Amino acid sequence: MFPAATGGTSFTITLPDEEATARFAADIGVALEPGDLVTLSGDLGAGKTTFARALIRYLAGDDTIEVPSPTFTLLQSYELPRFALVHADFYRLSGAAELAELGFEDLAPGTVVLTEWPDRAAGFLPPNRIDITFMLEPQLGADVRNARVVGYGACGTRVERIPLVRAFLDQTGYRDVPRRRMVGDASTRVFERLVLPDRVEVLMNSPRRPDGPPVRDGKPYSAIAHLAEDIVPYVALAQGLRDRNLSAPAILQADIEHGFLVMEDLGDDRIVAGDPPTPIEERYEAAVDLLLSLHRRKLPERLPVPPRTEYFIPTYDMDAFLIEAELLLDWYLTAADGKVTPAPGTIEAFQKYLEVAPNGPNAATAQDMIKTLGASVDLSYKNPDAGKSTKKTKKQL
Ligand code: ADP
Ligand code: MG
Repeated sequence: MFPAATGGTSFTITLPDEEATARFAADIGVALEPGDLVTLSGDLGAGKTTFARALIRYLAGDDTIEVPSPTFTLLQSYELPRFALVHADFYRLSGAAELAELGFEDLAPGTVVLTEWPDRAAGFLPPNRIDITFMLEPQLGADVRNARVVGYGACGTRVERIPLVRAFLDQTGYRDVPRRRMVGDASTRVFERLVLPDRVEVLMNSPRRPDGPPVRDGKPYSAIAHLAEDIVPYVALAQGLRDRNLSAPAILQADIEHGFLVMEDLGDDRIVAGDPPTPIEERYEAAVDLLLSLHRRKLPERLPVPPRTEYFIPTYDMDAFLIEAELLLDWYLTAADGKVTPAPGTIEAFQKYLEVAPNGPNAATAQDMIKTLGASVDLSYKNPDAGKSTKKTKKQL
């Protein structure tokens, strides 16, 4: 049995008509992650199935698919682009044993579960989940509903962002613009495409990041690597690069306090192509040229962030270099090769070759460093599987 959920982050929204319920369903849908559980409560006729239908149609990207009420079948399954989804109705559930019989325990990992009448399964609901309760408001009108959303556990932070992003879109003139989730990156940021009638723009949803636990000298990783804590550095550098005729997305709307940006869509083209993905050489060359071009310039210590902030560009010091180099060993090499163990002393070897850089990051030292790195760094992996794959990893480096 799961422990009861406590605490949680919540908000309430008024839905004046069914169209508002559909927009609300899309706002929830865009925030869902594989494996989420969403419960729908409320009296008969409150709008649970109407909401579920709008949510499934939104996630399917198809306004016409049939979404029958699962009252009689108890379960309806959907293969949606981002994840599989099961729409369940526990109204007729006789007891917890029936949950297992229905196959609830063997759902494919990552399946999103959307369930009406969750109280019939009370005590069996995981602590990470989103509860939505619909309330009829007859004194306000036949079509008016209030919905209360509570996010527990890992869902709490995401639930907190839902009304904030909605307010940002309403205030910036994007109220009715369809939203399409994009594949994320390795950060806490979430990207969406805003599909306007004549163009597409990108929404960045970037919650302020709390510092993690201290990892070295009492400092968290984020402080050592000088990671951005909010979107100020992003805004500063995007504009700074554009001012120097380098390509960065144009920022069209910004809410720095809450961490939202609308920006130019740079498209889907990648620096790799094919299966397995292989580097597109001229794009890698362009990336290296860009880095060299940046090294050759005199760059400012600070950049303006209108209307009233400045951003001091941190020095990319040795500690930052080394902790990022460790990521290469800890994450990239193990992921790329399975069982690669870097030889002891690899980080010290990095340090030796990197020592030139923080002291004099001008064109000469940068080029020297690239030459030195290319010619002499031997990462000497101890790979139990030997030969072939090790070479491949070295070459990719
Ligand atoms: P439940 O599944 O909670 O029993 P349904 O979604 O089956 O409820 O029924 C809700 C009914 O209320 C539908 O007929 C729907 O058209 C109507 N309705 C009117 N206004 C709204 C609204 N704002 N949101 C959701 N449903 C609404
Ligand atoms: Mg229903």
